[in-house]
Amino acid sequence: MTCQTALLYHEAYDGRGFARLPEAWARYRLARDLMQRLDLPLSRRCVRPAPASLSELLLAHDPGYLALVEQMDRLGHGFLDQGATPAYRGLFDRARVSVGATLLGARLVASGTVTHAFNPSGGLHHARWDRAAGFCVFNDLVIAVRVLQREYGYRRIAIVDCDGHHGDGTQALLESEPVLVVSLHRYDPGFYPGSGHWTEQGRGPGYGHILNVPLPRRTGDAHYLTVFETIVVPAVRRYRPEFLIVDLGADVHWADPLVRLGLTTTGYVRLAHRLHDLAHDLCAGRLLVVGGGGYAPEAVARCWALAGAVLCDGRGLLTEQRLRALHDAAAPEEPPEVGPAIAALLDRLSAHPALSAAPSPPDSPPVGAWR
Ligand SMILES: [Zn+2]
Ligand SMILES: [Zn+2]
Repeated sequence: MTCQTALLYHEAYDGRGFARLPEAWARYRLARDLMQRLDLPLSRRCVRPAPASLSELLLAHDPGYLALVEQMDRLGHGFLDQGATPAYRGLFDRARVSVGATLLGARLVASGTVTHAFNPSGGLHHARWDRAAGFCVFNDLVIAVRVLQREYGYRRIAIVDCDGHHGDGTQALLESEPVLVVSLHRYDPGFYPGSGHWTEQGRGPGYGHILNVPLPRRTGDAHYLTVFETIVVPAVRRYRPEFLIVDLGADVHWADPLVRLGLTTTGYVRLAHRLHDLAHDLCAGRLLVVGGGGYAPEAVARCWALAGAVLCDGRGLLTEQRLRALHDAAAPEEPPEVGPAIAALLDRLSAHPALSAAPSPPDSPPVGAWR
């Protein structure tokens, strides 16, 4: 299967990001360069986004917070939060470009211009209504949900967040409405952000639409994919999304210095395939992928290039020698305590309302009815 896939990229990505680890900022350009060197079809369909407008940012953020980000941009140093998300000259525009790229990707997919879109600099899932957190300034995922609801009338939008950290900002902004928000992440005492327990399941009309999959440290491919297949796939199928947004944060890779989950490139590719297949099965392929975190830039570039290949060509490209070279040369062993922890997690999640009781919102009316 060959799919039309757009890569969103802006020159502002070159060497600039939001983490307090500037060495990780190079991951966007490294990934784009690798995709171009491999001549992946999406690198030939590279689209330059415009920065998000103020009215778009206000779909998920407090006006006072936007003023604070502008003020910190003018100041040019310090942090937007307690030491995670640094301020610098140009930060406001840099953050607006990340959001603009996710929105352009959402609109290109929703309008049928392309089947899939990939914004490596999206997935800023810790950002809240009125504050930055965890290397995230503006929550592009939630703003994309608002645009898809308002401009295209979608009622069933699913977010599957595979970044190694819990998507706490996304959850906080969407937990009271029937948008399916799935997050798979490392969860143990002291690990950032500390939320994402399986008992957090949404509130009011959103009850049952928050599905958290808290994983033990160093969970490897086999256990990760078992949980994904047993819990996440049936929940997404049951919800029948009209549009799928995926955060493919590469900090799930075993080499990541911050997260220490245990996925290899092979596991990452299987995950990307599964999500890509789900989009084709359930929502005519409408799939927007954002890059999320990743703090080992060389591994991130390989993961994102492999994901880009999956989005362009299903299985064909990945059998080629040039892409095989992207895979890990080694893989760590999973510690013995992971297996029993995963078995207990599967047991607890089997009763999650997203798998049984959560009512699905109705089908959307035809798009024309909303315009
Ligand atoms: Zn496809
Ligand atoms: Zn992360």
